[in-house]
Amino acid sequence: MHTRAAELDAADPLGPYRERFTLPDGVIYLDGNSLGALPVATPEAMRRVVEREWGEGLIRSWNDEESGGAGWFDMARDVGAKIAPLIGAQPHEVIACDTVSVNLFKLISAALDMQSGRNVILSEPGNFPTDLYMIEGLERQGLAKRRLAERGNIVDALDDDIALLLLTHAHYKTGEVFDMAALTAAAHEAGALVLWDLSHSTGALPVDLNATGADFATGCGYKYLCGGPGAPAFAFVAEGHLPALRQPLTGWFGHARPFAFSDEYEAAPGIEQLQCGTSPILGLAALEVGVDLIAEIGVARLYSKSQALSEFFLECASALGLDLDLVSPPDSGARGSQLSFQHENAYAISQALIARGVIGDFRDPDILRLGFAPAYLRFADIEAAARHLAEVLESGEWQDDAFNRRAAVT
Ligand SMILES: *Cc1c(COP(=O)(O)O)cnc(C)c1O
Repeated sequence: MHTRAAELDAADPLGPYRERFTLPDGVIYLDGNSLGALPVATPEAMRRVVEREWGEGLIRSWNDEESGGAGWFDMARDVGAKIAPLIGAQPHEVIACDTVSVNLFKLISAALDMQSGRNVILSEPGNFPTDLYMIEGLERQGLAKRRLAERGNIVDALDDDIALLLLTHAHYKTGEVFDMAALTAAAHEAGALVLWDLSHSTGALPVDLNATGADFATGCGYKYLCGGPGAPAFAFVAEGHLPALRQPLTGWFGHARPFAFSDEYEAAPGIEQLQCGTSPILGLAALEVGVDLIAEIGVARLYSKSQALSEFFLECASALGLDLDLVSPPDSGARGSQLSFQHENAYAISQALIARGVIGDFRDPDILRLGFAPAYLRFADIEAAARHLAEVLESGEWQDDAFNRRAAVT
């Protein structure tokens, strides 16, 4: 096992990229799917933006480079354009703004606005909570109706009432991946639009929004894109929908000419309309570093390594005689960059692992979730993590009281 890990690391084309991330000694980080690691280049980029662009450039930094500024005004669009190739979109179809939750609100509303006579949003039970809550919020305003169908029944549930199908591409708990092309086609066949939540896919799995004909998408900046805690999210609107795009958070940054200070709102003609208020420049600056790095490594290479890492974990677990209840799809092609195991003491086990420096996480009620962010993990880390898990289970050390008290963030 040890030799095999060393061989795999020696042959890993992404091995050198680990040095482009700051990871504390003694930590095996299996939670890059929740908060991506810090790129080495981020603090320097932040220093530049804070000290030079803000400190010295002051208000002038909003303007573009030609006018002697730092180009803050276009930054949301510029960072969106850099995210676009990672998800199979064109640069003018993506913008980096707000949170996934807020983007869901805008995009669901935009979809409803494009559909006449239909107001049902179809999703699945157990989808990421914010996705379901945002539909509920619109429902409470009388603007939408929420309907849920188990994943095996989604296609059958696509009837004439469905305005929008809202699904998360890679499930946050199990990692199970939807067939985006097939579901998008089925929804379109039924006259529904589709909105994909790419939070657990972007930067780890291949996604081709344009090839699948997706209408809308949003995703997270702080997971595999390594944009930092609370990084701006992104939103995608297919080119064909841009002319008819209407979203309800009609803040001044989505105006065609914000600095005309007109009393009347006039929507910006393109993806810029999805902006509401002023862009969080510091957040965008950190996100840009993560996006540049992930783009440099390339999604195809990241995906193949992510599959190899999770396969190797299962190989080690089996060699160690670990009897684990895998709830992720056993076929690596059917899952995202994670493995989830069901165990009645999953919380205490995750805490005992963290005490050993193996940082994974726990998802209610009984899931131990191990994320395999491919940009910075080594096969040696995977082997060590499997050994720690075996030791935690064999020793029963997870039974310690300290590991059984719940913290606010799990
Ligand atoms: C992490 C995550 C989010 C995050 O939403 P925010 O509003 O940006 O906090 C949304 N959806 C899914 C599926 C996620 O995994």
